[in-house]
Amino acid sequence: MAIRDPQSYRAGLRDDRRVVYRGERVHDVTTFAEFDDAISHSSLAYAISATHPDLAVADDGEGPYTAFYRVPHTAADITDRGKLIETLSRTGAGTIVLKEVGSDALFALLRVLSGESLAKAQAFYRHCCENDVALAVAQTDVKGDRSLPPHRQPDPDHYLRVVDEDADSITVSGAKVHTSFSANADELIVLPTRAMSAEDRDWAVSFAIPVDTEGLTLYVSPYLHGDSNGFEHPISSRHKLLESLTVFDRVRVPKERVFLNREPELAGPLALAFVDYHRFTAVNYKLPILDLMVGAGIGVAEANGIATAGHVKTKLTELITYAETVRGFADLAALRSRSGGNGIQLPDPLAVNMAKYHFAHGFHQAAATLLDLAGGLVVTGPGGADWDRPEVRAVLEKYFAAARPAEERLRLIHLIGDLTTGRWGGYQSVLATHAEGSLEAEKMQIARSHDSTRARAAVAEVLRAAIGTSDAATELDSDMAVAR
Ligand SMILES: Cc1cc2nc3c(=O)[nH]c(=O)nc-3n(C[C@H](O)[C@H](O)[C@H](O)COP(=O)(O)OP(=O)(O)OC[C@H]3O[C@@H](n4cnc5c(N)ncnc54)[C@H](O)[C@@H]3O)c2cc1C
Repeated sequence: MAIRDPQSYRAGLRDDRRVVYRGERVHDVTTFAEFDDAISHSSLAYAISATHPDLAVADDGEGPYTAFYRVPHTAADITDRGKLIETLSRTGAGTIVLKEVGSDALFALLRVLSGESLAKAQAFYRHCCENDVALAVAQTDVKGDRSLPPHRQPDPDHYLRVVDEDADSITVSGAKVHTSFSANADELIVLPTRAMSAEDRDWAVSFAIPVDTEGLTLYVSPYLHGDSNGFEHPISSRHKLLESLTVFDRVRVPKERVFLNREPELAGPLALAFVDYHRFTAVNYKLPILDLMVGAGIGVAEANGIATAGHVKTKLTELITYAETVRGFADLAALRSRSGGNGIQLPDPLAVNMAKYHFAHGFHQAAATLLDLAGGLVVTGPGGADWDRPEVRAVLEKYFAAARPAEERLRLIHLIGDLTTGRWGGYQSVLATHAEGSLEAEKMQIARSHDSTRARAAVAEVLRAAIGTSDAATELDSDMAVAR
């Protein structure tokens, strides 16, 4: 077992990984200036072991290891995991940090697999705990034509697939996309992204490999980069992620690292087991953003001198209701958690998906409310260089003072700008809609997880009472049973 520090994490990223950024090869991610903020941000997942050891360090008698990899067995374990995820995210201003997603994938593998595959997943799990490994998860395939399953895609590489196999290894080709942390993780866990049929056999594959494995190339998105002024961008100047198109060109994977090899019947269960944990991670790491939105709304209303206006009170109440409803569902997901396969606890899928859906569905309205309260300075306000010049600052202090001094007001307005507009706000807007699954994926899981027995019984009871005869009631009961 081991706990690594941020320096050791950063040093571990210096290897032969093949990373392409803005069309150029990056030879050393640890010294590449544009990646520095993202690596520093992800280092928080290692710093937290020293700053919050009670929450972030586990020990089951074999020495300390990261609590992110502590397998949950009880509802209290799920609650503790939620607290850990929220606390880490708060140090990153509401941006997911690093170890959350990898641990979601580890728990899914340990829960769903059996026999030899489970033994391989357990060995990999031990390796992760013993070396405090930074994991990225590549689940989402590029998917080509969304209306077609993997085996019917015109280009078979649009879902990652097994193209070759010998006694010791499989060889895979294809591409995953949106892979967060891939360029700044040690290893990559690959999971199937959907349920598959027998004809999709070659595409039903799961494994783990080091990021510097030959044949793997990461094309990193530049979307979040370029906002470096702390006055103008209090969050995005410090907190960023790296996401990639992750291309596998005949990548050889040793069989001891292959968890699923052409087993389509397990593709769906594994994909969904990951999602159960991943959406719980999502709603907990998003809680600090919701607190920022509520706090910034209250702050800017006071700074603008509108806090007592009726419409403002209503808008702030709506913001609070939105944020606290997500928090309530997140708590409920832990409270109603239950034992899944192999004795591993899973958050309640109904509550988790309701939390994530409610977050995603309400995010854009919450952003609009903040922009309403802040006023137009979000996009016409002064920049950090203006503020740094004493003679310009004197003008800004005079004319941008309102119910609070200009500095407090402008910093709040820029925080709202960062949260809701520009690259980071735009990133959050897409993240809310798609990351950890799209709105439709959440709705599908809500419908699947809902047990309608109680609702159906309520209807049967009222109708039975209205009909009033035992024959009719029996008929009705059997009709309801058929409908079930
Ligand atoms: C910031 C960010 C970080 C991410 N990090 C990771 C990560 O680390 N690892 C990872 O594996 N993934 C990651 N994802 C991927 C995320 O899970 C996907 O974005 C999400 O599942 C949606 O997939 P998509 O982007 O391909 O959109 P699409 O699936 O193309 O969705 C677009 C629209 O098409 C609809 N649609 C899709 N398929 C169908 C269909 N068959 N029938 C009808 N409608 C359909 C959807 O409902 C949606 O309305 C990340 C995404 C984001 C935005």
